[in-house]
Amino acid sequence: MSFSEKIKLACPKCGNEKEILYWASVNVTEDPEIKKDLWAWNLNVFNCEKCRFKQSIAGEFIYHDMDKKVMIACIDKFKNIEEVHFKIPEIKKHFSDIPGINEYKLRVVYARHQLLEKINIFDFDLDDRIVELQKFLLSIDFLEKQKKEPKIVLCDDIKKIEDKVESASFEILCADGERYHMDLPLESYMNAKLIIDKKLEKLNDFTGKWIIADDRYIYEVLLSGPSSGNIISNN
Ligand SMILES: [Zn+2]
Repeated sequence: MSFSEKIKLACPKCGNEKEILYWASVNVTEDPEIKKDLWAWNLNVFNCEKCRFKQSIAGEFIYHDMDKKVMIACIDKFKNIEEVHFKIPEIKKHFSDIPGINEYKLRVVYARHQLLEKINIFDFDLDDRIVELQKFLLSIDFLEKQKKEPKIVLCDDIKKIEDKVESASFEILCADGERYHMDLPLESYMNAKLIIDKKLEKLNDFTGKWIIADDRYIYEVLLSGPSSGNIISNN
């Protein structure tokens, strides 16, 4: 079930006060229209009619897709990622009685763009942990060739041809504000899968466990040796 509440906020730019509907949980299977709002950056967003200032409202909300068996907690109210980690046991407890929860892909993200990225990856039935490795390898390659470090790497589009994933495109944002685009064929995904398959298999956290599957996660997985499968212990 989706759940929303009315909150009163003042525009950080001009002070104009307005009441908006804040969604604490969105069930896109029951309310598919909300998913469209989310994609259009109109969900939990402050939009000032007076000065045209627009900003997503930092907070905490749950994305739930019953068909795809996906639940994503988007927690973007903290400055420190450690605080997000501390929230995981609480989230885990809160949703423990959802039917079939062990078959769910359960993720925690700390930025809105990460939420949209995960939704897209799961909509195409890909493994987000493998896409994270692709991004990690892409960053290293980029640093080597361009001599500058990417700040954010995002998988922003996935292309299918006749029901089969063909390629994924990635956006690389650098500290100097420059953006780069790169398309990678499915082969790159399959190669990344080969590199890390055994380690991910051991972690057994694709479904049924709440994890923050980001660049730090994949770095720790890569570092974990055959005997240290417990490095990531969110559960
Ligand atoms: Zn304003």
